[in-house]
Amino acid sequence: MTTKTIQAYENLELAARSLDVASAHFKKCRTVLDTIQANCVHVWNKSEYTPKIEKGYYIPSDKERGIEMGVDSQPGTHVPEEITPKWTRRCGICGKVEETTKTQEGPRQPKFKG
Ligand SMILES: [Zn+2]
Repeated sequence: MTTKTIQAYENLELAARSLDVASAHFKKCRTVLDTIQANCVHVWNKSEYTPKIEKGYYIPSDKERGIEMGVDSQPGTHVPEEITPKWTRRCGICGKVEETTKTQEGPRQPKFKG
């Protein structure tokens, strides 16, 4: 083994040990945070509209991709953008974040002709 290889193994071992320590610390912090959030009375900040947007894209035709399939040739296809309405709120005390895609009926509004 070269000195460089030995150094690499030592660095790997050090990194692995650091990762174990960080992972244990992360788990401990997660448990503390989960306990705090489970016992919080939650004071929610104003919800924000945070839609989930999946960009549209184009699937090229077989011809555009240089594939010859004769009558079975697939044409190019546009897949439209897809927007899923979503709202997010955060507790001002514990920082818990909740998301929803559900809405509730608002107050009834009169609707007139025309
Ligand atoms: Zn809270």
